[in-house]
Order: sequence, then structure tokens, then C-alpha cells
Amino acid sequence: MLQMLWHNLKEKKSYPEQQEFTWKALEQFTLTALANYIQWHRQWKAHRRQVIASARALTFPFPDYRQGQRQLAVATYRCLRDGGELVTEAPTGIGKTISTLFPAIKALGEGQLEQLVYLTAKNSGRQVVKETLTSLHNKGLKLSLLEIQARDKTCACNLGLCSRDEGGVCPRTRGFFDRLPQARAQLLGSPLITPQVLAEAADEFELCPFELSLQMLPWADLVVCDFNYVFDPLVRLSALRDHSLRRALLVDEAHNLSSRAREMYSVTLSREETRRAAASCKGSRPQLQRSIQALSRAIDRWVKQLKISETPTVSGVQFSKENAEVWVTSLATTENRPATVSRAAHKVLLTVSELWGKSQLPPEEINEWLKSVYRYVCIEQDLSEKHQALTRVYDSGTPWQEQQLKLLCLNAASYLRQIFRQFHGVILFSATLRPADYIFQQLGVDNSAPYLKLPSPFLPSQQGVFLCPYVDTRYKSRNQATENLVEIIARTYRGHPGNYLVFFPSYKFLQQVAVAFEQTFPDVNLLHQEPEANDSQRAEFLAAFNEGSCTLGFAIMGGVFGEGVDFVGGKLIGTIIVGTGLPLVNEEQELVRRAFDPEFQNTIGTGFDVAYRYPGLTRVLQAAGRVIRSESDRGVIVLADYRFTDRFYQALYPEHWSLEVCSDGTVLSESLKTFWNN
Ligand code: SF4
Repeated sequence: MLQMLWHNLKEKKSYPEQQEFTWKALEQFTLTALANYIQWHRQWKAHRRQVIASARALTFPFPDYRQGQRQLAVATYRCLRDGGELVTEAPTGIGKTISTLFPAIKALGEGQLEQLVYLTAKNSGRQVVKETLTSLHNKGLKLSLLEIQARDKTCACNLGLCSRDEGGVCPRTRGFFDRLPQARAQLLGSPLITPQVLAEAADEFELCPFELSLQMLPWADLVVCDFNYVFDPLVRLSALRDHSLRRALLVDEAHNLSSRAREMYSVTLSREETRRAAASCKGSRPQLQRSIQALSRAIDRWVKQLKISETPTVSGVQFSKENAEVWVTSLATTENRPATVSRAAHKVLLTVSELWGKSQLPPEEINEWLKSVYRYVCIEQDLSEKHQALTRVYDSGTPWQEQQLKLLCLNAASYLRQIFRQFHGVILFSATLRPADYIFQQLGVDNSAPYLKLPSPFLPSQQGVFLCPYVDTRYKSRNQATENLVEIIARTYRGHPGNYLVFFPSYKFLQQVAVAFEQTFPDVNLLHQEPEANDSQRAEFLAAFNEGSCTLGFAIMGGVFGEGVDFVGGKLIGTIIVGTGLPLVNEEQELVRRAFDPEFQNTIGTGFDVAYRYPGLTRVLQAAGRVIRSESDRGVIVLADYRFTDRFYQALYPEHWSLEVCSDGTVLSESLKTFWNN
């Protein structure tokens, strides 16, 4: 007789489950399980032997290293061999992917590492990794890449390939572990385990594609995924956090990491959405409805408490925009924290888990709201000194005021640091990681870690950089700036027709200049980036930038076309950058500014630099970096704003920029003409 003992921790009770087996049946079961395991283990070992042998034999796939490439490869190898962190600013064209992946594979071949994790901020980055690895496969490498894609995009039910039963259970979860070994054995060692490959195997074995990808995690040599699978407290993968494997973490486009991490460690609870969630539970889930209503009341009480509170730790009404009153509360000490809200949020999650215990699911329409409650509880348990509570009360003119409570993370460095320590070696790289002190502080990198700033592999003569200080694009001056901008764009485009991108700080300003431009120059093929554009609209926009075409594209700085997009050759011969890319002034940016003001005696610049000028500069440099992508490219960058002459920016421009200041439109035209004629 075998007995399984289930312990219910909440009830403090045990539930035995007994079943009788014959000795022979148990013996047979054990032998079969062992035989299966041995077979799997042999297959796995054979694959690893091939990976290690092929990684050792691998040579650099190009005849020569480009300028800076060898330096990056050597520094990466040393860091991954010895452990620690490396921060690298590697300008466009160095070939960051191969220069980091190749030494990481060599370190893996020599037994210094057991698994590589490559993070990208955008889909386009994942594509580059796959293409790079394919070129190494063609050279004999046997390494297996696993690409993790979001559950929503891979879910077979979402794609209409299966549907949940009446109890809300997906058929692909039933008997999952019975069919998993076959699928796993089939996938092990596949060169590229992409979402497409996973979907095909999942269909064949009737498995959940997303869960199958997670089950392949321990067996993949190289895992490629988004930042959130490593850093987000809600979705990070435990299989990438256990210490059983010696892992390397390669973080591409690392300039995005601090802002992405701040979002991951921030969360908003909305009273309006909470009330809607309670209404969705009416009738079907009364117990859950009551606990959600209690949360709504707790948010109410928190707001009332703020309104009457005179304690000095509550900093009072700070701003009043969008018809909202805003309170900012320090969360440094426990007595200022919204404890009743936290207790009520915990209670909601407890009720949900009780429902699950009875095989009842919460209504599907509250899933997104529930995720925010999970995030709230998760963050609230691990608040850092850089968290503040922002409470907003919107005056709608009715008794039903919307109230929002946001736990806002002003700096996620301490969280990032903890996660870096789970990896043997961490390589953070991007074309724009400057200045070093600011980057180290924002990413939580150890001060003793090396910082590598590499030169551009391209000739300065390939690119002309023209500064137009006779235009002021600050918010209050935008109406006057429009005419000047239309002229600058026209002079640049007409001086040498081809494909150009013009980057704006906001959609509103983009529209304003676009209308004026179209009125004056209706013959020019002008495209605008649309807000909330879907994948096919984006592809359509990019398709207009072909060799030989003449397209003027208006886009948003820091948006989807401002980074991570490759326009090689004549696909793009110039960018015009309107303004210094400063983030919008709002309560949250202002809190970041205040957190880093000089009274905090930081060494990385003023609060204004940290909240506005450094992030703005990163957007500018990323947008500028779209132009020259290969040795044969030539192109221009036009900086349109008087602030670009400021010493702050002058000190941070890339070393290979040779800046020409144009005092007016005529000088700009002359300078452009000289550049193109050379
Ligand atoms: S188990 Fe997988 S396929 Fe089924 S609903 Fe969930 S995510 Fe979708």
C-alpha cells in the first residue's frame, strides 16, 4: 500500500490518499521510470558532448575583426571566465551580437559556463541573435537556441487551436506530463527552438506551447527572451534563477533596462477598475465580490486619511494636473504605508486561491485587474527606499471620483543588482550607455566593474552632423518653431533627395509640423508614425524605405522606429532630430528629478539630468544611430534645437561626430551640399 499525504497549510490538516499496488507493478513502474530517465540522460549527454566539442572547434566567422570588435570579444570572454559584470558602449556597426555571443560560446565550450541567457528589449533583437547563431551553425556549431515568447502570443487557445472546457480547463494541460517526455526528446538539440517549432511540437503532442517552452528551459544551451523573464517580479522564470547551472547573462540594448525595470517594480490600483471587477463577480463569485469591494473601500479610506492627515511625512498635494489632486507619500517607514489597502489586496488573492482550491476560476474579464493586484502585493512586500506612493484623485464632477494608488519605483538599481548576482557573468551592452557613472548608478552595477567605450568602426567622413541652433523647440515655442522646422526639413530633403526620418518629441508636435509641411510641399511622399500602430502598419511604414525611393518619415523619438531598426545603405540617408528628446514633464518624472537632486549629493549629475537630459540624450543618439549601418553608407544627421549647443550635450556627443554649426538655413544648405559633393 502507498500513501500520499496532502497537507493543507491554512487548515493545518492532513489528507491521506491511499492506493494499493502489487510488488510486481511497483517494480515494473520503477524499472520503466529508470529506463526512461537513463535513455533521456544519454541523449542529453550526447548532445552536450557535441555542443562542447563544436564550441571548442568554432572559429570567428569573419575573416577579420572590425575595429573594436576584438576588444569587446576579449573583454566579454574574460568577464564570463572570471565572473562579474561588464558594461560596454559599442557603437553601431561593431557587431555587438557576434562579439558577445562568440566569446560566450567559447567560454561554454571550455566548461566555464553551462548556459547562456541573451536578453533583448525588442523582437528585432531576437531576430539578429537567431541569424547570428544560424551563421555559426553553418560553421559546425551544435548549440541549441530556445526562444521564449509571451504566453498570450503562444497560447493555443488564443490562436483558436483549442478551447477550454466548461470548467475553464484547457485540454492541453490534461496528461501534460505523460506526453511531455516524447516532445522534449524530439526537441532536444534542435538548432533553433523558435515559437514556430514549439507550436508544431505542441500540436503534435497536444501540449501547451508556452509550458512546453518553459519545460525546455533547463535543456537549452542558449535562451533568448525579453528582459521581463529575468527581471520582472511577476513573470521571471524560476528555471533561470536556480543556482544549479553556471549562467552568463547577456543584456542587449541595456540602455532600456533601468526604465523597463522601474515599470516592472511599479503598479497602479484603480478604484474604478476595482469596482468593475467587483461587479463582474456579482452573482457567480459572491465571496470574491465581497473581498474586492473591501479593497475598494480600503482605497477610499486611504484617500480620506490623506485628505485629513497633517503628519509631516505626507508631503501634501504636490501637483494638480488633468483635474487630479496628487499626494506623494514616502514609503520609507512602515507607518506611512497604505496598510489597509495591502491587507485587502492580500485578502483578494487569498479568496482567489480558495476558489482555485474548489476548482472555480475568477471571471476571465478580471484577469488583467487581478494581475495588478498580484503585482501590488508582490512589490509591497519588497519595497525599496526608492519607492513612493502616488495617490491621485480625479475630479470628474460626480460623486464617483476615480482614485488611483500607485507604488512608484524611482530607481530599480537595487533589484537589478540582486538579480545580476544570480549569474556567473553579466554583460550589459548597447550603442548608447553614457555617461558611465549615470549608467552604473541606474543599473546597479558594481563600481569596480569594467566600463568599455569602443570607437565607431566607421569613418567620420561617412556621416555629416549639422546643428541648427536657430530653432527653439521647447514646448512653449513650438508654434514659432514650426516654420523653421519645415524649412530645415525641406532644405535637407531637397538638397539630396532620398529616404529621411524626422524624429519628434510628441505626436502633437509631429502632426503640427506635418500639416504645415504638406501644405507647403504637397509633392513630397510624407508618412507619419501613427499612435498605437499595429505590427502590419509598422511593417507598411518600414516598407516605404527602400533603396532608391524618396520617402520622408515623421516618427517619434524613443518610439519603435527610433531604435532597433536597421536601415542599411540607401534605405535611410539622413535623420533630422527635433529637440533634445526630454521625457514629458509630469509628476513621476518630477519625483525622479527630486530623488536625484544635489541635496542627495550624488555624483552623477543633477536631478534634472537624471530625470530628463540623460534619457533624452539616449533617445537622440539612438535616433541618430539609424543612419550609418555599414562601411558603404553615407548620410547626414541634423540636430534642430539651440539646446544642442549646450556644453552638457557637447561633452556627451560620440567621439566620431564632427559637428558643424549652421547659423541659418542658407549655411545649412551650403554645408549639406559640400558634404554630399565630397
Ligand atoms: S494551457 Fe497553454 S494553450 Fe491552454 S489556455 Fe493556457 S496558455 Fe493557452
